[in-house]
Amino acid sequence: MDRVLGQNQAVDLLNLQLSTGRQHHAYIFHGPVGVGKFTTALAYARVLLCHDRGADLAGRVTACGACPSCGLLTNLTPGTTPTQDDDTQGLTTAHPDLHVIRKELARFSEDTSTRNRKLTRIPVEVLRSALIEPANLAPRLGKNKVFIVDEAELLNPAGQNALLKTLEEPPVGTTLILVTSQEDRLLPTIQSRCMRIAFSPLPDQAVRDWCAKHAPDQSADQQNTLVEFASGSLGRAQLITRYGLLAWADAVLPALDRAARGKSTPDLGQQVFNFIDTFAVDFVKAHANGSKEAANKLGADMMWSLIATRARVRLADLSANCTPDDPIANEQALAPWLAVIDATEQAQRFLGSNVNLSITCDHLAVALTRRLAAAY
Ligand SMILES: [Zn+2]
Repeated sequence: MDRVLGQNQAVDLLNLQLSTGRQHHAYIFHGPVGVGKFTTALAYARVLLCHDRGADLAGRVTACGACPSCGLLTNLTPGTTPTQDDDTQGLTTAHPDLHVIRKELARFSEDTSTRNRKLTRIPVEVLRSALIEPANLAPRLGKNKVFIVDEAELLNPAGQNALLKTLEEPPVGTTLILVTSQEDRLLPTIQSRCMRIAFSPLPDQAVRDWCAKHAPDQSADQQNTLVEFASGSLGRAQLITRYGLLAWADAVLPALDRAARGKSTPDLGQQVFNFIDTFAVDFVKAHANGSKEAANKLGADMMWSLIATRARVRLADLSANCTPDDPIANEQALAPWLAVIDATEQAQRFLGSNVNLSITCDHLAVALTRRLAAAY
């Protein structure tokens, strides 16, 4: 597990539990998208499932790499980046005691209506057949079984309630890991029964190292923009590169700076909408049964983050120049960029309450422009 990039605190905590033999039976791995939660869950599962665990020079418990269980999991490569793009369906069949539950499993359901449903949630039927029922069966290869629920926030309340009994009375040798970037969508009854492990955004250098390896043709400027846009998420860096999203930054960020100089960009709302919509269409094309609604949300989250991150950069620049003896002037300088962050949070709430994407984008563009221009 020591090779999981940039998440030392989480990894150290799990290592400590392994070395003292005090593992929990249920975990919530929570933190931003694309920072290694899922990779860590797989690495932890590999150690839990190993038949002949050892220890490295630092005293950390490690998988042996040679037993039948490790043999089936040799393709797991901790340190690489999991994203919603990865198709880890193969994992569920590669090892009989490692079960990965994701919304995509609905594609393999025996039930036609579940199979044909758009993938915006993890259907409760999938949860039953892929987790609750197999959790009560004996392990096939060793003494343990591990269930990883990816994007656990996509379990609806009925699904979460169905999980409670398994969490309360876990069959011996069963470990459950809920991976989520939206922990607040898990019921308090679920949260209180799990050990929570926090994952943080990765340091910028981790994203730079990733760029050097995976996008070596980028100019220094492009790389700086990508690092800012990715804001500590390698999963996001992958999406930006794969779907050409640096164009968003090239169009939207200068518009913000123009607004701060009192100049509006009349079609900004339409541009923002077109960017998100085009991304969502491409994303759905690349994912069988992909839901346009879920892809819109993924794209919108990235757009709001792009804008809010730039506001934070401007706030940091302005704060560095603030004079301690003039608090009113300081407040006036910072207020418009704080308002930009508020506007992105409002846009997120709008979409969350099913306001149409185009209206949300127009509303955001007007709010940004008005607040930034007002301070000019
Ligand atoms: Zn092993």
